[in-house]
Amino acid sequence: MTFKDLGIIEPILKALGQEGYTNPTPIQEQSIPILLNGKDLLGVAQTGTGKTAAFAVPIIQQIYNNQPEQGRNRKIKALVVTPTRELAIQIGESFTAYGKFTGIKNTVIFGGVKQGKQVQALRNGIDVLIATPGRLLDLMNQGFISLRDIEYVVLDEADHMLDMGFIHDIKKIIAKLPSKRQSLFFSATMPKDIVELSRKILGDFERVTV
Ligand code: AMP
Repeated sequence: MTFKDLGIIEPILKALGQEGYTNPTPIQEQSIPILLNGKDLLGVAQTGTGKTAAFAVPIIQQIYNNQPEQGRNRKIKALVVTPTRELAIQIGESFTAYGKFTGIKNTVIFGGVKQGKQVQALRNGIDVLIATPGRLLDLMNQGFISLRDIEYVVLDEADHMLDMGFIHDIKKIIAKLPSKRQSLFFSATMPKDIVELSRKILGDFERVTV
């Protein structure tokens, strides 16, 4: 199986080749067709399985195929919520690497630093926002971010976000999302509260376990 067999388009294939990815990992092989079909996904997978590309590649491809606006008029079309600054930065780097030949732009926001540079990056126009929950809500409340045009949402490491006490923040974020959207939910474990949260976010979904 190759990324080409999965229907990945040339500009992304070229970037994946430059990353040294020759074949998709199991989570990528199973998730990419579901996501390119527009379905919601519950991914039970840990970091290290290649789950970032499993969600980033189909999101980049779908945004690219819908011919995004350029420049400052771009609307944020995809939101990735992740528990830590380190994960957020890694995910941002992955979107940049896989999307380098597509013109799709991302930015990363997280707490613990001044917000000025993050606000400026948002003003410059982005397609994909990667965020930790607290800073995301903070910038939403200040009017710097609107989730009105979100078409794709990813909750990454949902079990860690609950362990870190982000449940109320996540519920507030979800409440601001358009109801017509593609939702992706990733967790390494599926205890009862995570199953409950996944039901709040996902519509008709397919489950992939690796
Ligand atoms: P992740 O689980 O997304 O944190 O990815 C774990 C590591 O696997 C990262 O260093 C990725 O760059 C790498 N990786 C992801 N997909 C592939 C692939 N298809 N082939 C080789 N390496 C990959």
